[in-house]
Amino acid sequence: MSKDDHEDPAATEEIPDRPVSRVEWPLVKEPGAALESHGAHFSFLDFEIDLDRFVGEFNEQVIGAYGQGEGAVLPADTGIARSLIPPGTGVFRDFSHVAPALPKFIADKCVACMECVTVCPDTAILGRIAEPDVLASASEEIVTDEERADFDAQWVRTTKFYDVVEKKGEQGGMFGIHVDPTKCKGCGECVVACGSHEALEMIEKSDDLIENFRNRHRLIQDLPVTPPRFLARKLPVDLMLYEERNLLYVGGAGSCAGCGEATAIRMMLAATGDVYTREEIGIIAATGCNTVYGATYPYNPYLVTWSNSLFENAPAVAMGVRVRWDQQGWQGKRLWVLGGDGAMYDIGFQSLSRMLCSGMDIKVLVLDTQVYSNTGGQASTASFTSQEAKMSPYGRVQPGKLEKRKELSNIAFMHPEVYVAQTSTAYVNHFLRAIREANEFPGPGVGKRLHHLSAGARGRRRHGDRAEPARGAKPSLSTLHTRPAQGRTHARAAIAARQPVRERGLAEGCQDRRAVYLRRLCAHGGSLPPAVQCR
Ligand code: SF4
Ligand code: SF4
Repeated sequence: MSKDDHEDPAATEEIPDRPVSRVEWPLVKEPGAALESHGAHFSFLDFEIDLDRFVGEFNEQVIGAYGQGEGAVLPADTGIARSLIPPGTGVFRDFSHVAPALPKFIADKCVACMECVTVCPDTAILGRIAEPDVLASASEEIVTDEERADFDAQWVRTTKFYDVVEKKGEQGGMFGIHVDPTKCKGCGECVVACGSHEALEMIEKSDDLIENFRNRHRLIQDLPVTPPRFLARKLPVDLMLYEERNLLYVGGAGSCAGCGEATAIRMMLAATGDVYTREEIGIIAATGCNTVYGATYPYNPYLVTWSNSLFENAPAVAMGVRVRWDQQGWQGKRLWVLGGDGAMYDIGFQSLSRMLCSGMDIKVLVLDTQVYSNTGGQASTASFTSQEAKMSPYGRVQPGKLEKRKELSNIAFMHPEVYVAQTSTAYVNHFLRAIREANEFPGPGVGKRLHHLSAGARGRRRHGDRAEPARGAKPSLSTLHTRPAQGRTHARAAIAARQPVRERGLAEGCQDRRAVYLRRLCAHGGSLPPAVQCR
């Protein structure tokens, strides 16, 4: 029996504007037939999509329906068929009633260190600098005295952005910290980061308080973003003042309150976005926590192109993307792979190793949480000896995990021409510098792997390091990892040994390719592909 014998002429049909060919074969053996014929059902649809229209309709209809709890009645459409979510739809998500408390800003104690803004996993707290005259006019327009006083109390003259700037002969800027109550999950990480400055404290939520925060947040959003002259400082910790360029993770993700992974992803994107436009950045995310909270339909926290792969093949998928990008002349684009313990240490390790050997220009951020977080906290090969986790209980019979931890950094830099950094979000400057160096690592034949140690509350508790809420309290790296910066040092040594003439910074060749790429785009009047999320 051939498949042609089972072709149903009626199964080829025309739907207006959408040609559809459908061929069906039986799934069971017919009586008397010699062979069992297993068939498949193919549909060939025209998947062309008008992205501008799709994004507009999605934001109105799909987000609107989900906001009213009516997502189930939405019709299937081409966007769903292609698993597309427009960028940044996470801004529409409202967590106002998730947590019992919100951080209150005490302006006169603030020194504008920006640590709270950097550490927040949910982009719920914003640092902004405003010109004094702009602020005065905004304040004058507020109708009620109470609201005006509340608004004025959010701003402070700091040494960093006022006195130092004035000393240079320029007008100083007023600094403010602002909380978006719809994004805040009440984790308190910002309060811990602020520490002994005591410029933030958690206060109990009430309906009135939420309304007060919402009104104030609206007023702040109406102000101009931080003027560029204050962004020239280029301190890594100030990256997130450059909202339009560097806040590429908008919040609204379904991550746990205080998730250290989300902080790492935000910081990676801020450091990358500071150099590359959002259209030049792409992410391939291995299934795990990061894909669950990062793609909870219809909410997308990313403003960059993002795609989900399996647990075990994200680096391989990235290799395919890189090849295609390079064919299109997009060598200048940065491609990052995200994955956790399972995706990088265990089930996906072979894919990572293959990619590192390929020499392709791909970066990997390993979200090392020292357990399989997404499946409930079982011990992974990244867990430490004697660490207590599911599948490795600690007690009289068994003292936690028995095996030694796999040292992925050591393994990674045994691959040729690989940049390896081992870092933690608790060390903001070190983390951001590592990302920057990874992005700059020059030339073809470079794979990158970064090792992230979760700085979230879970990581600290797990290792018994109950960091006191004092300024500068950081999870001790020695409790989180046996050899904190060694991997990086070794990696550099290894790289230096193999590549004695290689220099830091973007190689000339890379600069040229990037310029060619941008020129080509301009010549064709084209634009980069819109950032969409593909699940
Ligand atoms: S409490 Fe947590 S979510 Fe809320 S602003 Fe602070 S760090 Fe962000
Ligand atoms: S951490 Fe504290 S001192 Fe630093 S910017 Fe935030 S509120 Fe101000």
